Order: sequence, then C-alpha cells, then structure tokens
Amino acid sequence: MLSYPPGTFIPLAIATHGLVGLVLGSVLFDRPLAGLAAGLAPDADFLLPAALGWPFVHRGITHAAVALLAAIALAAVFSERRTLGALAAAYGSHLLIDITTPKGIPLLYPLLDERLYLDIGIGGHAPETTLTLWVLCLGAIGYRYRGR
Ligand SMILES: [Zn+2]
Repeated sequence: MLSYPPGTFIPLAIATHGLVGLVLGSVLFDRPLAGLAAGLAPDADFLLPAALGWPFVHRGITHAAVALLAAIALAAVFSERRTLGALAAAYGSHLLIDITTPKGIPLLYPLLDERLYLDIGIGGHAPETTLTLWVLCLGAIGYRYRGR
C-alpha cells in the first residue's frame, strides 16, 4: 500500500488535476493550456477568504455542476470549439476525480445542499490512483508528441 510523503498530498492532488486536464486538452482537442487551466480551475477555491463561508469554501460551488456549466457558457462566448471541448473535459475530469474521494463534491448544488460521493472502491486521490493517472498521462503525452 502506497502513501504520500508528509506535506505532498495537496500539491500532488493539484498537480494531478492539472496534468489530467493538460493531457485531455492536448490529446482530445489540441488545446493543452486550456485543459491545464480548466483542470486546475475548481481548486481556485483554495484562494477564497475563509470568511465567505459556504458555498465559497474548498469543494464548494466551484465543484458543482452549475460551475462547470457556467464555465462552459462563458467559454462558448469567448472561445472556439476546441478550447470549449478542452475546458469541458478538463473541468469535468476534476469533478470526476474529486467525487470519488470520501469528502465528495456538491455536484448538484444548489438543488441539493450536500456533497455527493461516488464509491468506486478506490479514491480519486488515493496514492495508487494518482500513480496510475500519472503513468497514463505521461504515456499519453509521450504518444501524442512522439517523433517531435
Ligand atoms: Zn478539487
């Protein structure tokens, strides 16, 4: 059984979201930076002042489907289709990873004011999952840019 070295969980979790977003944006839509930014975007809630309280907390409104839809709507106005696809895939990947952790996410907020947890037997941020995601992502990037 793997474990994270002390102090590495949050940086590795954030880096994993960024890497997964980058790979999805790159491999599926040829928009790596849009994927990277959208993969990281939900965790911008770490920067919110704690005084704001719910739902402006970590794993609050930025981890709800309504935030994903708002991001897609905003991107639809200012971006072309590939960027929009990268944004949707990467932001969605972040929510998918986080919903498989015991803390869950408020996917249906404001319709349902509680966090949902999808138990798939191993958490989206378990060390084994993180290692698997990194191997798959680095393999996909290597394949995507082979011969360049
Ligand atoms: Zn998150």
